[in-house]
Amino acid sequence: MSHSARDAGLKLLREHAFIDGKAVKGSGGTIAVDDPATGETIGTVPDLGKTETEQAIAAADRAFADWSGRRPDERAAFLREWARLIDDHAEGLAGLMALENGKPLDEARGEVAYANGFLKWFAGEAERMLGETQDSPLGHVILTFRKAVGPCALITPWNFPAAMLTRKLGPAFAAGCTAVVKPASQTPFTAIALVELAHQAGLPKGVLNLVTGDAATIGGVLTASPVIRKLSFTGSTPVGRILAEQCAPTLKRVSMELGGAAPLIVFADADIDQAVAETIKGKFRNSGQTCVCPNRIYVERSVARDYADRLAAEVSKLKVGNAFDDGVKVGPLIEDKGIDKVEDHVAKVKAAGGEILTGGERHDLGGRFFTPTVTFGGDDALFREEETFGPLVPVFAFDTEDEVVGKANDSDLGLASYLFTRDLDRAIRIGRRIEAGMCGINTGLMSTPVAPFGGVKQSGYGREGSTHGIDDYLDIKTLTLKLG
Ligand code: NAP
Repeated sequence: MSHSARDAGLKLLREHAFIDGKAVKGSGGTIAVDDPATGETIGTVPDLGKTETEQAIAAADRAFADWSGRRPDERAAFLREWARLIDDHAEGLAGLMALENGKPLDEARGEVAYANGFLKWFAGEAERMLGETQDSPLGHVILTFRKAVGPCALITPWNFPAAMLTRKLGPAFAAGCTAVVKPASQTPFTAIALVELAHQAGLPKGVLNLVTGDAATIGGVLTASPVIRKLSFTGSTPVGRILAEQCAPTLKRVSMELGGAAPLIVFADADIDQAVAETIKGKFRNSGQTCVCPNRIYVERSVARDYADRLAAEVSKLKVGNAFDDGVKVGPLIEDKGIDKVEDHVAKVKAAGGEILTGGERHDLGGRFFTPTVTFGGDDALFREEETFGPLVPVFAFDTEDEVVGKANDSDLGLASYLFTRDLDRAIRIGRRIEAGMCGINTGLMSTPVAPFGGVKQSGYGREGSTHGIDDYLDIKTLTLKLG
């Protein structure tokens, strides 16, 4: 057990929100945050509401003129200093995240580095917000500038408590936007620690505000406010729909990073060992609780059973346990409901005639631990629309290319997809036909700050990361100049 990372994490734990550069406790109640591995409370955050959210919006509004008016290189310098402090505190941040989220410590370390990558990348992008010049057919000269959209509301989920925040704040700050952040109630401490480090890095007061409390209340105030010019939301599709509707009256810019039901397709010509290893990397990150986790595996019939058996053999070796225990690859799920859902999905596979090749039940550790599970056969329909969000890999056989593309696309969701083949022509042909924002070819991991991330259909719209990630935080301003 790594006590040092846990202790370093506890030193960064702060039980307050941030409004206008100040720590805020509020006068109401608190929300308890637990360690999903034990169910024990690790701390509380203030249960803030309408008044504090309005104060945070007002602070972001006041700070906007100065922050957006600064030179881009000044904002870039801030992002680099913030990133330096995050690197300095990386072990503590990883420990805090592992504690509140339950993900294995090594994964939490990886997330801190990944999260910080967005700040480093967008520090560079701040200095590349290029405009254009053009001769007009009217005889004028047209100059375009890219300007910050205004104060933003950023709402993030619990599964990547650091990365989902920096993926929004990096481009927002690079562009010159100010922000009100609402982190997930299950994992607020990582976000609070990041906000504190931002202030230590010299961020002016009011540029970054963080409120904790009842999501519907805070979300209602943020979306109704005419001051907030943009909402960026990462979370579930049902909540995304509510928020998009709430943003309509004020015509806010909206980006939605929502759920997925990723298909992973293995053709008979693939390197099966590689496909197995990459499936495990993609599926078991965060114990299966990521929006890009392969949710349904389709394998060409001639190799399907062989792939499934090899996968089950490897999956049965994955160590389940507390985030801080050595060698742990699969932690607890975030909440009891998550365990119930995996159990329900396993039962439905069985009822449809599928076989359990390994796992299939709650883990001996009890609580929110589930045994990593591989099933073979049954009906894939459920997995086209519903994310399992847990350590279950359902494998199904297919016969033809058209059949599998049809199944992959027969879903309202379209975030990630994966394809394993040695045939380059087929990889590009099918990669382009699959209705998903992203397709990993011969890899189970594709998230990096330099690649566009986002979905199509009901997985949302907008792209985060890459050179495109800043666009959602910028308006184009046109000056038309009549020359004398
Ligand atoms: P969720 O229930 O939608 O919650 C996400 C965030 O929204 C949390 O901060 C939550 O606050 C807040 N929220 C909930 N109801 C709200 C409302 N009515 N108004 C305003 N805010 C509200 O999703 P989750 O269960 O935490 O996260 C898992 C989902 O996120 C999965 O579907 C996953 O696929 C998706 N996800 C997508 C991406 C992506 O980039 N596409 C990345 C990661 C996760 P509370 O915590 O206080 O309830």
